[in-house]
Amino acid sequence: MALLEVEDLVVQFYTEDGVVRAVDGISYEIERGERLAVVGESGAGKTVASLALLGLIDEPGEIVGGEIRFRDRNILECSDSELRSLRGDEIAMVFQDPETALNPVYSVGEQIAEAIRAHRDVTDERARRRTVELLERVGIPDAERRYADYPHEFSGGQQQRIVIAMALSCEPDLLVCDEPTTALDVTIEAQILELLEELAAEFETAIQFVSHDLGVVAERCDRVLVMYAGQIVERATVDDLYYDPKHPYTVGLMASIPRFGDDRDRLATIPGSAPDLVDPPTGCRFHPRCPYAESCCATRDPPLVDAETGTAATPLEAAPDAHLAACHEYTGVLEDGLDYDVVVR
Ligand code: SF4
Repeated sequence: MALLEVEDLVVQFYTEDGVVRAVDGISYEIERGERLAVVGESGAGKTVASLALLGLIDEPGEIVGGEIRFRDRNILECSDSELRSLRGDEIAMVFQDPETALNPVYSVGEQIAEAIRAHRDVTDERARRRTVELLERVGIPDAERRYADYPHEFSGGQQQRIVIAMALSCEPDLLVCDEPTTALDVTIEAQILELLEELAAEFETAIQFVSHDLGVVAERCDRVLVMYAGQIVERATVDDLYYDPKHPYTVGLMASIPRFGDDRDRLATIPGSAPDLVDPPTGCRFHPRCPYAESCCATRDPPLVDAETGTAATPLEAAPDAHLAACHEYTGVLEDGLDYDVVVR
C-alpha cells in the first residue's frame, strides 16, 4: 500500500464573488521514500492540495469531498488532537517563506528542541543535543554556539536550513515542501534543493515538492503531477514528462524553461491567464488557451486517460509509472492530431 493516497479530493473557498473550487477531484498517491513534484501556475491548486494533507484548510475554505489516506487512517476523519500529533511527527511542511515559519521571539534552538519534545518523550538535554546535531547536519556553522540565536540573526538561506532541520527533527515519513526556495536567490536555491534531496534519502522521507517551476524539480523528483485550474491534467515519471509531454499545457510549461544552449531570443509563454475558478470554462478548462482546441473541447470535459492506450485510468488504479493525460487527443475525440511544434516555438 502507498504511503499516501489522495482520492477525489475537493476543496472549496466561499468568497464574496462565489464558490471557488480550488481543488476539484484530484487523486494521486505517494510511495514510501518517493519524491513527487506537483507543478502548475499560481492558482492551479497545488498549495491548497498540500495544506489539505496537514488538515490546514481554514475558513473560508472547506474540504467538501474525498479521502486522504495516510498509512492506515483517513486524515479527514482525524480529531484536532490527532492532527496535531500527526503534524511534525509523521508529516511535516517546509513553507515558502522561512521568516513566517520561525517564531521571532524564541531562539532557533529552543524552537527545534520544542518540536522534538512535543512528539518524543526525551529529556531537555537530549532534545538540545539532537537540535545541535540537526543544525550541524543542515550546515549551520558553529551550531552549539548559535543554538541561542534568534531567527533575525540568520540569513534567509540559513533560516530555510533551520526550518528544514525543524521539519526533519522527528524524521517524518512525508515532507511537504511548498515552493521552498522561491524567497531565495538562485545560488542558495540550488544548495537548499540539494540539501533537501540528501536529507530525504538519509531519513527515507517521501517528499511532495510543490513548485510553479518545472525546471526546479527536473532533476530532483521521481514523478510529476501537473495541475491546471484545480485539476490534474498530466501525471508521468520525470523522464516521460520531460522527453514526451502529452498535455498541451505541459508542453507550454516546458517551452517556458530556459535550457542550456538555448538560442531563442525570449522564452515562450502560454497565452492568456489561469481561469476564474468561480466560473471555470466548460469542457476542457484549458481550451480558451489551447492552440489545438476544437469545438468538442469546449463542451466535453476530458477525463484522465492512459496516453498510450486511451483507456480511462484514475491515478490510483493505473500503474504508478503509467503516463496519464486529460486531453481529447488521447481520448480519441479530436479529429486532427496535435502538432506540438506549434507550442514549442
Ligand atoms: Fe487542448 Fe482540447 Fe486537449 Fe483541452 S482537450 S488540452 S483544449 S486539445
